[in-house]
Order: sequence, then structure tokens, then C-alpha cells
Amino acid sequence: NIQPEAVFIEKSEALSLYIPRKKFSHKGTYGHALFIGGSYGKIGAVYLSAKACLTSGAGLVTTYMPRCGYSILQTALPEAMVLTDANEEHISTIAFDLEPKVIGIGIGLGKHRATVDAFKAFLQKNSTPLVIDADALNILSENPELVQRVPAKSVLTPHPKELERLIGTWKDDMEKLEKGKAFAKEHDLVLVVKGAHTIVIYNEKLYVNSTGNPGMATGGSGDVLTGMITGLISQGYTPVNAAVFGVYLHGKAGDIAVSNTGYEALTAGGIIDYTGDAFLDLF
Ligand code: AMP
Ligand code: MG
Repeated sequence: NIQPEAVFIEKSEALSLYIPRKKFSHKGTYGHALFIGGSYGKIGAVYLSAKACLTSGAGLVTTYMPRCGYSILQTALPEAMVLTDANEEHISTIAFDLEPKVIGIGIGLGKHRATVDAFKAFLQKNSTPLVIDADALNILSENPELVQRVPAKSVLTPHPKELERLIGTWKDDMEKLEKGKAFAKEHDLVLVVKGAHTIVIYNEKLYVNSTGNPGMATGGSGDVLTGMITGLISQGYTPVNAAVFGVYLHGKAGDIAVSNTGYEALTAGGIIDYTGDAFLDLF
């Protein structure tokens, strides 16, 4: 069901998007990425995104989480910095004194009433490009008037259920893509339609990913993708290129991982572990 304007993303396309690391560079060259998310029992999602972001090359990573995430993140991922909300178990206000290049938001966020209000207030004043996932997508779906507050060219990464909440149901793949294209165009957003063949939609164009496997149907897999796309934008990839390159890299890391572990034993952390091999496989 590939449409005429679709581009199939294989190694050569991914390599053409790759931005080489510069010799005379420093961490500032590769940007500061911020993740806003986490709630009691879902701090692991933020850990996975932050680690995937660092592993895909971001210069600096900060996470903004409820207080219960502080020791967990600082212990599990000392490379990341941690800012905490006033609340212990969920985000209740989104306030930080940083100017990140990009913000990944929604991973493990939950939908506590105070969190929803904080997210609404954040969108009113934010102009930093966003990578929006998980409960931040669900909050947008429940409050469609908020979508116009999302900065142009931000990236949305829904799985099928999140997509359905966002654009409504579809009768077949064709209608799903048409609705996705209309939504992306109306709001000038990059829409990543996740699945066995993830499709990136931007500006009426479709990019169909060639990598990935059913071993990746495992908890936290999407959080890793959010981290990778955020990390690529942080380094200077345009949002659409970050989305296209990110889904390729994520799937390739998963493919190399399963060649070592088998499908069943693949975990989201395993996708991160093989991200370096996925970069090396480009050359
Ligand atoms: P999430 O549901 O948010 O954890 O996202 C799941 C991630 O795993 C997405 O990037 C999907 O594209 C990927 N994924 C899930 N199932 C498969 C599959 N059967 N084949 C390839 N990729 C998959
Ligand atoms: Mg997810």
C-alpha cells in the first residue's frame, strides 16, 4: 500500500541524512536536550529516553521529573542532569531555567489533573521544538484545542492506539495515512506513525522505514525512539530528518540486537546497547 509519493528508507537514504561528527567540536556543538516526563512507577521511561538520547549523540541531557525520580536517574544514568518538580509522584508545574535545543515530552508522564494543567500552561509559553510521545499525545487528543500551541515542525510519535485517539479511527491503511497527512499538514507537524513498518509523514510526503522486527514489540521500545529522535534534533538534524533517520537507526539497532539475542530476549535497553552498531553499520 505504498503511495506514489512515498520514499522507502534504506541504508543509502539514512547515510545521506547522517551528519558526521566534527573534529573541532565540543558538547555544546551537539546540543542540550531536555526530557519532561515520569511519574511514580514510570521513571524507567525517562531513563530509557535520556540514555537513548545520549547514545545517539546529544551533547547534554537534562531530565525534568517528579521528586521520586531523582535518585533513580542520578544513580542509573550519571551522565544526565536531573531537575525535579515540587511534587513527589507526578509533575505538577513545568518550570526550569534552561534553554534546551529540543524537548522530549510525555514519556511516563501520567495524566494526573495537576500534570494536565502543567502541560497546558507549558504549551502556552513554550516555543522550543518538541518531540511529543505517550501521555502528552493523549492529553493533546483529549484537548484538541492545544494542538495549535505545539510549535511548528515538532515531532509526534504515536503508536496505533495513540494515533487513533489523535486522528480518529480508519477503515484501512490508506485512510489511516490520508488522515495522518491531513493532520500533519494542518498543524505543520512531523507525524511518526509507529508500527511494523513505521511511516514518517511530513509536508504530504511519506517515508516508509525498512528496519525493525517483532522483537521490538516490548515495553519501553517507543521511549527509546523518542530519545533517539530528540538526540538527533539536539545535534542539528532537522525534525523531519531526525524522525526519518531516528526510525531507521532504532529499527537497525533492534535488528542487530536480535541477531545476537533472538527476538524474545530483546528489551528496550538492548536496543540502546546496539545503537552504536547501528551507526557503524551505515559505513
Ligand atoms: P511503543 O508502543 O510506544 O513502545 O512503541 C513501540 C516501538 O517498537 C515503535 O517504534 C514500533 O515501531 C516498534 N515496534 C513494535 N512492534 C514492532 C514490530 N512488530 N516490528 C517492528 N517494530 C515494531
Ligand atoms: Mg510508547
